[in-house]
Amino acid sequence: VGSVKETLSSQFVENCKGVVQRLTLQEHKMVWNRTTHLWNDYEKIIHQRTNTTPFDLVSQEEGAGVAVRVMKPLDLQPPKQGMPYYLSAMDFDSLLQKQESNVRFWKILTVVFGFATCAILFFVLRKQYRHHRERQHLKQMQDELRQAQEMNIEGGETLKNACVICLGNTKSCVFLECGHVCSCTECYRALPEPKRCPICRQPISRVVPLYNS
Ligand SMILES: [Zn+2]
Ligand SMILES: [Zn+2]
Repeated sequence: VGSVKETLSSQFVENCKGVVQRLTLQEHKMVWNRTTHLWNDYEKIIHQRTNTTPFDLVSQEEGAGVAVRVMKPLDLQPPKQGMPYYLSAMDFDSLLQKQESNVRFWKILTVVFGFATCAILFFVLRKQYRHHRERQHLKQMQDELRQAQEMNIEGGETLKNACVICLGNTKSCVFLECGHVCSCTECYRALPEPKRCPICRQPISRVVPLYNS
């Protein structure tokens, strides 16, 4: 401890100087107890006052030049250089050990949380990737289904347009008077005489060629 201004000196003890002074006025009396018939000690603090003067907490090492100024007890100000300071009842080695174990604890915590975050991120990304894959697969299947349906429709149409006799050529003539469109020209020519409609067996009086546009 180093004084800043003047030190406090005791009014009652000679050559006693300091920076924190506590004055206590205490009443001490003996009281007669009527029930127990004994004298009882009785103490009572009448007045208590603490005087302080600003002082510096100086490093034990000589010439360190770093000091914590104490304006009032427990109202500390950092060193003028703006350096951090610890006020501790422990010695320097214990304080260092405590700080180092704190540092180790936070390091371990950081590593653990880092791993946890990585794991969570990995799982989330994997789930999203799988979801994406599933959706793509579904879309592909839908596309295939649609294509198959379209082909079916086309196939149906070609089947519907096929000549009912040979099933190979497309229908290309209309039989009159019944009006059926059911055969290709070749199959019509191949029909036995007298020519009749293969659908309704009506005699065919005339044939009109059909041109699909
Ligand atoms: Zn035919
Ligand atoms: Zn017919």
